[in-house]
Amino acid sequence: MSGKSEDGKGVFAPQTRIVHAGRKPRLAHGFVNPPVYRGSTVLFESLDALIRNDQPYTYGRRGTPTTDCLSEALCELEGGALTVLTSSGLEAVTLAILSFVGAGAHILVTDSVYQPTRRFCDTILSRLGVTTTYYDPTIGTGIGDLMTDKTRIVFTESPGSQTFEMQDIPAIASVTRPRGVVLITDNTWASPLFYRPLDHGVDVSVQAATKYIVGHADAMLGAVTANERSAAALRKTRDALGVCPGSEETYLGHRGLRTLAVRLHRHHQSGLEVAAWLQAQPGVAQVLHPGLPGAPGHDIWARDFAGASGLFSIVLEPGPREAVAAFVDHMRLFAMGYSWGGYESLILPFDPGSYRTATTWRASGPALRLHIGLEDVGDLQRDLADGLARYRDVCRAASPGDGPSIEM
Ligand SMILES: *Cc1c(COP(=O)(O)O)cnc(C)c1O
Repeated sequence: MSGKSEDGKGVFAPQTRIVHAGRKPRLAHGFVNPPVYRGSTVLFESLDALIRNDQPYTYGRRGTPTTDCLSEALCELEGGALTVLTSSGLEAVTLAILSFVGAGAHILVTDSVYQPTRRFCDTILSRLGVTTTYYDPTIGTGIGDLMTDKTRIVFTESPGSQTFEMQDIPAIASVTRPRGVVLITDNTWASPLFYRPLDHGVDVSVQAATKYIVGHADAMLGAVTANERSAAALRKTRDALGVCPGSEETYLGHRGLRTLAVRLHRHHQSGLEVAAWLQAQPGVAQVLHPGLPGAPGHDIWARDFAGASGLFSIVLEPGPREAVAAFVDHMRLFAMGYSWGGYESLILPFDPGSYRTATTWRASGPALRLHIGLEDVGDLQRDLADGLARYRDVCRAASPGDGPSIEM
């Protein structure tokens, strides 16, 4: 037992707690890391023991020392009462929502939400008789005007997926708290290292641990952390649904977590450096990064967050699809693919105009989401500068008579 995580709550700095939280080396014969417990059946010594059912472990689905190690660590970092692990980030989102709704309920979801969260609301939830209203992410205390006596959840994500609007979470909490409405936030972008939602009035914090917690693009994993008043509903729903993560994935989440601070500080620095540099590059119309002074939502970010991760977006000057292809198809370091949060840099065209309903996406040109990995910043800037040059070349070659620019 390292002792420090139990004895030192609130005493040690977050990056120290990331190293020690949840670890119990003495239970593993002194080995620093927990073993990977693979198991379904857990044996009982006697009929009495079976009937008492009070062993620390009773069945694989309900948890193992490996899952406890990671869930206790995340719970301490988020400052919650209970953390439940899930097999993906999306499952963490759906478990969090299902824990607090029944037929006839109404929920409010930010228009900037991770798109598969929206799909869940529009399909499964609506089939179960739960209605969703999407709202402008910058609504603040105005959220009260959208509530009915059926409203059970306000779902937030700050900054928003792809477009990075910051939400005034304390302002929203000031409305949800007195009404007993559950406030959920998808905290994947900042991780518990850079933002602790429960300290700002949030009831339930969701992590796609697939991203920065795992940190190496080699496993799918999620986590839901609830405060005291929301923990029982979360536990009951987890047990009823049979949600549980794989043992290898849990171990990889644990392994990734221990280096989260050093990785995230580097993503923060490199991300801000590349974002500020991009602001001055020809062909770039807009950089959407709340950590940049003067950017939309920067004041909220500076007030509530301890750092920024490596994910942000840029909007290009208007240009045709072939110009975007010329940009992204020939990158040497930035690869194209879904997900993010690993050690490597990524680039992804997107079009929020295709699915938003409460707000209008008004960018004039194509948009690209960038994940700034752990590579050298100069190398990344050269790769982006070359890509932008290819983009401008194709734009220039396309005559004005070629028709309107397409949006990706
Ligand atoms: C990736 C992501 C998820 C889903 O996580 P998966 O592990 O891919 O299911 C949820 N929310 C946000 C903000 C994400 O970026």
